Amino acid sequence: MVQTIRRNAKATNNYNPFETVKKQIDNCAEILKLDPQITAVLKSPQRELHMSLPIHMDDGSVKVFQGFRVQYNDARGATKGGIRFHPEETIDTVRALAAWMTWKCSLLDLPLGGGKGGIICNPKELSQGELERLSRAYIRSVYPFIGPEKDVPAPDVYTTPQIMAWMADEYSVIAGKPQFGVITGKPLCIGGSPGRGDATARGGMFTIREAANALGINLANATVAIQGYGNAGYYAARLVKEMFGCKVVATCDSKGGVYNKNGIDPKKALDCKAETGSVCNLDNVELISNGEILSLDVDILIPAAMENAITEKNAPSVKAKIVAELANGPTTLEADDILFDNGVHIIPDFLCNAGGVTVSYFEMVQNSYMYYWDEAEVYEKLDKRISEAYRAVLATSRKYNINMRLAAYILAITRVVEAMKARGWV
Ligand code: GLU
Repeated sequence: MVQTIRRNAKATNNYNPFETVKKQIDNCAEILKLDPQITAVLKSPQRELHMSLPIHMDDGSVKVFQGFRVQYNDARGATKGGIRFHPEETIDTVRALAAWMTWKCSLLDLPLGGGKGGIICNPKELSQGELERLSRAYIRSVYPFIGPEKDVPAPDVYTTPQIMAWMADEYSVIAGKPQFGVITGKPLCIGGSPGRGDATARGGMFTIREAANALGINLANATVAIQGYGNAGYYAARLVKEMFGCKVVATCDSKGGVYNKNGIDPKKALDCKAETGSVCNLDNVELISNGEILSLDVDILIPAAMENAITEKNAPSVKAKIVAELANGPTTLEADDILFDNGVHIIPDFLCNAGGVTVSYFEMVQNSYMYYWDEAEVYEKLDKRISEAYRAVLATSRKYNINMRLAAYILAITRVVEAMKARGWV
């Protein structure tokens, strides 16, 4: 029996993040007075691969999975960006995420372009064997399009260092030699970088520290709510506590949210999720909804789940002083304006969560010169790069009295346009 796992081009909730991307480019083009021909190039993904992956399932059936890889813009260098495994994946989501990778790499001044990949699947319903076969099939299909100097994938939602290891192996077997630099976020034993595991959250911490300095907030007394308890959410919970002494009072996962005014232990929450499937089964907590978490009276709100979380409907009730976007695209355009008018300081996604790709870039550098740094060196380099990016965005937002996201866009797009011009594209 052959089944096809396919979805329409739009996510089920009808939100199309690629439309948001295009509007964000238009807003930025207006301020920068960009030639419409340049804007047209910025709005167009350079190259896309759509693939069908037939997989032998454990029950003897064959299922066909749909996959994508979008290389959005390589004006500044090889494209870079993760691969998501998600049941609600769509081509427009991957396009949007690939565009955001382009601005992210540019904002952090990495010599890289942006890309993203995805497979429509629910990894929670796949066995380890099925997951491995799917990961390897993806690489066999994308092989001619990627490479250490061309396009370098990495982890994203529901993809892990183990999946990166299978993918690096499949690529190496086809190439006939170890080619670990084709992918980042690998285990340390096959060329991963120290510090990559918690890099997204750690980078976010450095931006929160800078924001707190700028706003005069004492982090030692700060309360934090974290939406999402995957890799980014868990490490954020741990690091806000470890690095600054903040109190995490609420978190949630896809099953619901939990609140305790005296604080939630990050490790206990992780163990509870691993053992029972959800943080909702923690002891000594009040159960709250995923929506309620956004309107809690906390100092810092960290959306660390999926796109489209803060919308015009719930934005007016956000009470946090800082919204640190560890997820990609959690805030809609309309919500952005509302938060800005209400004086909420947003650390935009492609700045706040850029720690992951920054350490991925360090991993690429270490792979290519075959000499590895220690964790302290990685942290120091990450801190310097992301803190400088934060300060540049803040200065731009204050100079033009615009929100932090638009300021980040202006800096990132200016650099991409500069490279496109230098290369004679526009
Ligand atoms: N998936 C991560 C992101 O959205 C990391 C990408 C990478 O390391 O290339 O930034």
